Amino acid sequence: MLKNIVIDKVSEFFNSWQGEGPRMGQRATFLRFKYCNLNCPFCDTLHKFKNKKPIQVTCKELQHYLIDTNYLVITGGEPLIHLDELTSVFNCIKQYDYNTVIGIETNGYSKNIDKLYDIFTKIGTRQDRIEIYFSPKLFIDEYKDRGSTIENIKDSLIKLSFISELTPIPVDIYAKIVVSDIVKTQELIELTKHVLPTNNIYLMPEGKNKKELTKNYQNTTKLAKIYNVNITDRLHINFKFS
Ligand code: SF4
Repeated sequence: MLKNIVIDKVSEFFNSWQGEGPRMGQRATFLRFKYCNLNCPFCDTLHKFKNKKPIQVTCKELQHYLIDTNYLVITGGEPLIHLDELTSVFNCIKQYDYNTVIGIETNGYSKNIDKLYDIFTKIGTRQDRIEIYFSPKLFIDEYKDRGSTIENIKDSLIKLSFISELTPIPVDIYAKIVVSDIVKTQELIELTKHVLPTNNIYLMPEGKNKKELTKNYQNTTKLAKIYNVNITDRLHINFKFS
């Protein structure tokens, strides 16, 4: 029953604009989950999902917010940590009358990638679209102990690609690669280029504020030219909206 579906472990829920990636500037409903397996020093949302008390979002509320956007962005933290909650979201969408784009932001959390197939097939053959925004992080040694190695990232991407072939609902995969360390960024571009078309790869400057972003614009465009891939800004930081 619709009224019984509740989505737990949410840190933020709001309508705004998509700040980055292929749908930059588009109206979107954000569902931000708490917790992440990583702890990136440049994370612009760490304080939000760490410090805020978790809230619950009902399916009715979610559907109500989606009326204005028809575009749901499930983000974090790391959404793939929360399989039960993701399942609730998809069960809710299944009962929604309008076609929706469902975007999932992930760092490629490898432990649960396989489970996405079951979750995606829950909504059957509706006219919705799923978009995965795959944003791996590689440039801090500490991450090796947290499962974010080049091997795990590659494995996650290949599995996602298989899932996208098998599910009845269209699933598009985009890479959003944060540009800071040039060598590590190049490693990630090379890796993603083996699996994704270059038109689905976006480079994005690292930065928690306008000044830091601006510092990384030059390397972003430089690498994007070399590899013939897309760039994206981070509008929420530049325009200062949530
Ligand atoms: S993976 Fe993303 S959400 Fe997690 S800490 Fe890093 S930047 Fe933040």
